Amino acid sequence: MSENEYWFCLTHHTVEGHDGCKNADRLGPYSSSEEASRALEKVQERNEAWDNDPKWNDNGAGSGDGLSDGTPDS
Ligand SMILES: [Zn+2]
Repeated sequence: MSENEYWFCLTHHTVEGHDGCKNADRLGPYSSSEEASRALEKVQERNEAWDNDPKWNDNGAGSGDGLSDGTPDS
């Protein structure tokens, strides 16, 4: 129905139209390229929130064998 589909490609970090990478590699669809470009910002904000959320720190007692030290993987 809608020909106006915009996707944010996680492979190329750019907005793509209907023809592009497979949908599994993209966020969307969105009804405007602007929305699609904001999709990644939302994801990044969410990731930062997770990184800064003490609930996700793995320093609690009795957390297995201690091999996981919570070092960010970047
Ligand atoms: Zn792509």
